[in-house]
Amino acid sequence: MITKYIFFTGGVVSSVGKGVTAAALGRLLKERGFAVAVQKLDPYINVDPGTMSPYQHGEVFVLDDGAETDLDLGHYERFIDISLNRVCNVTTGQVYAEVIGKERRGDYLGGTIQVIPHITNEIKRRIGLVSKTTGAEIVLVEIGGTVGDIESLPFLEALRQMRTDVGRENSMYIHVTWLPYIGATGELKTKPTQHSVRELRSIGISPDVIVARSDHPIGDDLREKIALFCDVERRAVVPMITAPVLYEVPLMLEKLGVGEYLVERLGLEPRRQPDWKEWERLVSEVRRPKPVVNVALVGKYVELHDAYMSVREALKHAALALGLEVNLKWVHSAELEKGRGWDVIRQSDGVLVPGGFGSRGIEGKIQAIRYAREEKVPYLGLCLGMQLMVVELGRHVLDSEDVNSTEFDRSTPHPVIDLMPDQRAIADMGGTMRLGLYPCQLQPNTIVAAAYKKNMVQERHRHRFELNNAYRDVLYNGGMRFSGLSPDGRLVEIVEMADHPFMVATQFHPEFLSRPNRPHPLFVAFLEAVQKHAAAALQAAPVEEHELSYVEHGAD
Ligand code: GLN
Repeated sequence: MITKYIFFTGGVVSSVGKGVTAAALGRLLKERGFAVAVQKLDPYINVDPGTMSPYQHGEVFVLDDGAETDLDLGHYERFIDISLNRVCNVTTGQVYAEVIGKERRGDYLGGTIQVIPHITNEIKRRIGLVSKTTGAEIVLVEIGGTVGDIESLPFLEALRQMRTDVGRENSMYIHVTWLPYIGATGELKTKPTQHSVRELRSIGISPDVIVARSDHPIGDDLREKIALFCDVERRAVVPMITAPVLYEVPLMLEKLGVGEYLVERLGLEPRRQPDWKEWERLVSEVRRPKPVVNVALVGKYVELHDAYMSVREALKHAALALGLEVNLKWVHSAELEKGRGWDVIRQSDGVLVPGGFGSRGIEGKIQAIRYAREEKVPYLGLCLGMQLMVVELGRHVLDSEDVNSTEFDRSTPHPVIDLMPDQRAIADMGGTMRLGLYPCQLQPNTIVAAAYKKNMVQERHRHRFELNNAYRDVLYNGGMRFSGLSPDGRLVEIVEMADHPFMVATQFHPEFLSRPNRPHPLFVAFLEAVQKHAAAALQAAPVEEHELSYVEHGAD
């Protein structure tokens, strides 16, 4: 089958759920039997988001092949249940680096290098790589930002050219906009949408579909109006009200007939009837009132929940599987250092320390880990959360506060976490980490072997430092078990405490492989322990203090 393309642009404002829309539409097409992949084009100049602060950009999502990508790729993978690869996230930085590299090698034979055609050709080449490397029949391409941004112009020009290159019947443009609500008159406004469509037209792109996002119901009259002013078919105006449950979006789009429309417009015959039973079950499970457990997430970017997007999603998936609701309490590790936020930790039935970089807030995380170890509160550590669990135990068994990771104290006398000798020479900050999928051998009779029910697993990594093997014996004698190792035994991938109900931490990031319908076994095992802890606390304490609460919705 000739590759079909669906291009997503944003209008009016950003952050209105263009990524989720693309992901959900991808699911609609997959449900009809097509092989789908999604690509994100990010107009910023960084080569990848790997070196960007999570405050700027939210989480960095890591793929199997080690690509450090935009968090929208997490939405795509979770919604569509696919594994993407590094061609699925393109930035201006990558495009220019490639073109300038070629120019320096003399590949252009003396020509003048220009945005059109050299940059646009490189963008189109990268769009073409998606179907070649993933086998996708339908490629969905999302452009970051909104129409009108200076830096997205070359991308929009490339998309414009694609229609002529691949043909009208093989390409579609979907424009995702926002309808502002005027409180005083209680009405939604379509004018900004009209303007942004006009802007898109001036670049030479006429949208085939307009997805109009709003927090308020969108009446038929507005649908009519958008169709008329923006020159799209009435049924191609998709009113999309903010969903209380993220995973409801594909169901909403299906009900609006968008799947049929796309397939028809691309001249395709559905290969099978969509089967939404799983999703419907998932959404009704989210809506069902469930017992609540409190989990403290101790991090340093807690003000920005997007920084821990996949961790939050993985907890939700596991909670759904167990019929629980996780009440995630965001605890700022720097606050703990000042003695604040401990009541939140004490009211929680589980502590989670996610990944992170840099020294701010490290001591607060270590204190939270010490609390979890001493009070036997279930603990899950992810990447940095594993390294700090090792530091904490190291300080305890060696009875020295100087035990540290060389990331935070280069001259520590006890570098329990250190660079591997072969990494020492590397000074560059971008792309020098151990990234992507690596195998991990689980050791028999451990918590993790029981959780995974397997001997060998593959997980995604993103880190520079490792457990220092010189300290394995000391840590072992302190009760630590090395329950997951690289197949050659050289690298410790998972640690757990022998004398603790659940104190497990991984050098890798299990959160990236969790799916709504396939929760990650370690998150499930963690929440089982959390649930047990909550039940035991309930038994031990007077009812008023620990009463299990119920909530109506599992909304975001
Ligand atoms: N900063 C640590 C390292 O580089 C942990 C990284 C992480 O948590 N992703 O090894």
